[in-house]
Amino acid sequence: SVPLSFFGGIGGASRDGILVKGGNFLEILSDTEIVVFDKTGTLTKGVFNVTAIHPDRYSEGELLELAALAESYSDHPISRSLKDAYGMEIDAARVSDVEELSGRGVKAQVDGRLVCAGNDKLMEEIGVTWHPCHRVGTTVHVAVNGEYAGHIVISDELKPDAAEAVASLKRAGVRKTVMLTGDAKAVGESVAKELGIDEVHAGLLPGDKVDRVEALLREKSERGKLAFVGDGINDAPVLSRADIGIAMGALGSDAAIEAADIVLMDDKPSKLAEAMKISKRTLRIVR
Ligand code: ADP
Ligand code: MG
Repeated sequence: SVPLSFFGGIGGASRDGILVKGGNFLEILSDTEIVVFDKTGTLTKGVFNVTAIHPDRYSEGELLELAALAESYSDHPISRSLKDAYGMEIDAARVSDVEELSGRGVKAQVDGRLVCAGNDKLMEEIGVTWHPCHRVGTTVHVAVNGEYAGHIVISDELKPDAAEAVASLKRAGVRKTVMLTGDAKAVGESVAKELGIDEVHAGLLPGDKVDRVEALLREKSERGKLAFVGDGINDAPVLSRADIGIAMGALGSDAAIEAADIVLMDDKPSKLAEAMKISKRTLRIVR
């Protein structure tokens, strides 16, 4: 049976926009030793803006159009930003054979040409050499019919409470914070540094994130728990692998909300430390 005060704890949390799916999760949370964050949509807003277009072939407008059309079927934050920057109605008849390659990008036929848009890994996979890039933000390379056509730079912003979220977890007794990202090393490292995150692993495919979490699970103490916090865009497998999975409720996908044990309804990572405080207070009453 669940002690009555757990319901008090869960109720209090839900009034703060923290949805806890069961009393046992408060107990796990109070013993959390390692917190692993996804980057995009979790610590950053996941709202990208196109900041530069560098064509090698075509005009800037044409390069952006090819990328936006190729990305037109995807819901990924990067796709959304390219479609927003393009700004025009997309004629679905121009796009076919769309393939989403998670953690890498997309492939599609656009006006009868094969367009690939994505990161270094995608270019390596299709055997296209890219030219040196402006590495200020996230780079989306575009290849047309197997030839490099240029790159588009997009930038995300940190959530305003991200640094405070990391600091308050440390104060609440979390031993180690980790960030996992599919984004490039330079981007991952600068975000981690800015936020005071202890460890960062970049360039990861969704499967690599599961492997990383498994390695971290072996590293923690017997009693300590590992929490994973994600926005759910292709991180549902990690959410279920962690001792406790925490999803962002507003941006997050249905699959992630389903797979999570705790949902932060307003997408604020700082709510996690608050949930941890509630859990510790509740556990003091119970134990
Ligand atoms: P994160 O791990 O930061 O949450 P994802 O796993 O969703 O990010 O994506 C990892 C990387 O894969 C992105 O930074 C980007 O380089 C590339 N990528 C993923 N989806 C797309 C897409 N639709 N278009 C272009 N690039 C993409
Ligand atoms: Mg993500």
